[in-house]
Amino acid sequence: MKTCTVYGDMQADSAAEQYPTVPLCDDCVAEDSQAGENRQIVTQKSYDPSYGDTCDWCSTTAEEEAAAKA
Ligand SMILES: [Zn+2]
Repeated sequence: MKTCTVYGDMQADSAAEQYPTVPLCDDCVAEDSQAGENRQIVTQKSYDPSYGDTCDWCSTTAEEEAAAKA
């Protein structure tokens, strides 16, 4: 699990909507890194549970991810 800043709604007024910070699972981060110019992730940081524990793209939770790796 990572906490990432992604491209959001560029028409929005606030930076928080233009570049929302969301939790993403490792699978989605890995997939995005293969997406070339269609990449959605601006920056990725280490996982911060204060932004949530469910992947914004595929709804995998941090708990499910940890269980899948165990
Ligand atoms: Zn995911």
